[in-house]
Amino acid sequence: MPEIAPRNPMPSQPAEVRKSNFKEVALGYTGELAVAEAERCLQCKKAPCRAGCPVGIDIPAFIQLIKEHKYLAAIRKIREKNTLPAVCGRVCPQESQCEAKCTLRKKFGSVAIGRL
Ligand code: SF4
Repeated sequence: MPEIAPRNPMPSQPAEVRKSNFKEVALGYTGELAVAEAERCLQCKKAPCRAGCPVGIDIPAFIQLIKEHKYLAAIRKIREKNTLPAVCGRVCPQESQCEAKCTLRKKFGSVAIGRL
């Protein structure tokens, strides 16, 4: 297995800023960070991550589209199986579902599927 970069952290509001507003703490990945995270994915043939998704999203396919900077196509791919991706991206327990099954989990840390 090739050397894999560590997971990209989620940018977030600093405590000093967020203490005086009601906006989301997590700011979301920039395009650059999203592509960097997508590049960690091995595009596993059997895609164990997909087996961990209750609605069966084609996870490697949408990650590949992000890698190619095709963000709208990636969203469309997710929406084939999930009509509320923005909600699920926030509330799904990815760490015990798709990310728990990721091939990279033990050695390098799972691909940050939920963040993507
Ligand atoms: S298991 Fe992890 S590395 Fe493999 S396709 Fe899924 S997200 Fe990518």
